[in-house]
Formats: sequence, structure tokens, C-alpha cells
Amino acid sequence: MTSHDNVQAASTLDAALAELDLVDRLRLVEELGGRAVFTTSLGIEDQVITAAIGLSNVAIHVATLETGRLFKETLDLITETEERFDVTITRYHPEQDDIDAYAAKYGLNGFYESVEARHACCHVRKLVPLAKALEGATVWITGLRRSQSGNRAATPFAEYDAERNLIKVNPLADWSLDDINAYVSAEAVPINPLHARGYPSIGCEPCTRAIKPGEPERAGRWWWENDEKRECGLHVPESAIPSLNSSSL
Ligand code: SF4
Repeated sequence: MTSHDNVQAASTLDAALAELDLVDRLRLVEELGGRAVFTTSLGIEDQVITAAIGLSNVAIHVATLETGRLFKETLDLITETEERFDVTITRYHPEQDDIDAYAAKYGLNGFYESVEARHACCHVRKLVPLAKALEGATVWITGLRRSQSGNRAATPFAEYDAERNLIKVNPLADWSLDDINAYVSAEAVPINPLHARGYPSIGCEPCTRAIKPGEPERAGRWWWENDEKRECGLHVPESAIPSLNSSSL
């Protein structure tokens, strides 16, 4: 298929997904054929998708990026979730050589020192493992929601990801946090105990803090950076992150 065909296919899928509930959105992805991969960070949105995959038994691979800097609570939740929903969550790890090279250049926790160093760490610990997780995939499913941040306000149900040459599907794009909480309650979905301690968005331990009442959901991620649109590069093209382009890692 040409790039134009992929854009057209994603647009058609986007319109079709808008009319469906969550399980039927996942079933429609399954019906597309090919390899569909859902990457979970074990956040509350992602737990909803994993639960829906497990409960409906759709043929979608579930993967997580085990960065080596996750909270213990997150690691424990991976195992608990596998057992609760009878799903396998495949762990993708960074390369030790890449971690060593990063530490030699920036220091193990060099991400606090500059945006470049932070993006370089996310590249090594998240983007490289993500590329492995998505090898051979035709569809990448994520838990992005429009109301998570201003940066995600226009999240479609499906879009063509030209950088990775696949269709990215966001089946919770139109879900509110109330919708998420209602599903979690109805299906007794296990969630990260950190959510109850003020962490609505949970990433690596050194880069996530609790938020204060009234702060945006993602205010606790890379809080020391003065950029309202900060992301780790998973959901924005790497080419759009200047510091990554100048990074040797
Ligand atoms: S979130 Fe922090 S520790 Fe995790 S990969 Fe990014 S910079 Fe590194």
C-alpha cells in the first residue's frame, strides 16, 4: 500500500471506530488481520484496554516497555493483571549497551539536567524497546485520551503513523476519566495503587511525581521541564523533537 492508501485506510477506520463501543472497536481491529499490538504502561486507561482484550478474548498482543526505572507498584501490577485477565504482557527491555553509553555520556540520572538528556534517556529506555515491540505490527493500539492534556485534545480513533508505517488506534480517545473509573469499578479492574496517592499519570519512578488538586493529569510527568507539551517521544514523531535529532543516542 502507498502512504496515500494508508492515510485513506486510517481515515475510513477512524470514522468506523467512532460508532462503536470499546469491545467492538477492538474486534474491528482484529478483523483487519495482521499483527495488532497494544502497548500498556499499566496506567488506568491501559488497564481498561487490557481488561477488554482479556475479557473479550480478541487476538491482540499486549506489550509493555520495561524501562528498568518503573515503580515497584507498576511491576507488581503487570503480574497481577496477567493473572486476573489470563493475558500475556510481553516485556520489552532496553539494551544494556545503550544504557551504559547513556550513563557514560549523561550520568544515570542525567535526564534532570537538560531536555536533550531526558529525550536521550527516553529514546534508549522507551523508543528502542517500542520499536522492538512493534516489529511486524500493522496496528498499534494505545490508551491515549483527548482529555488527558491539551497536547492530546485532537487525538483521533485511528491515524496513519508514517514514521512507523502502521495505523495507530486510540480506542479510548473519546473516554472521560469518569468513563474510565466507571469501567474499572464495573469490571473490578486492578489498578496501580499510586493513582490513589495523587499520581493520575504514571511513568518511570524518577520522572513522575504526585500532582496537586486542580493540576492537569500529566503535570507530574517531567515536572521540572518548563514545556506544556512535554512528551517522551512515543506519541509524537522523533523528528519533531529537536534534541533527539542532535542526540548521538
Ligand atoms: S521517563 Fe525518565 S527514566 Fe524513564 S526513560 Fe524517560 S527520562 Fe528515562
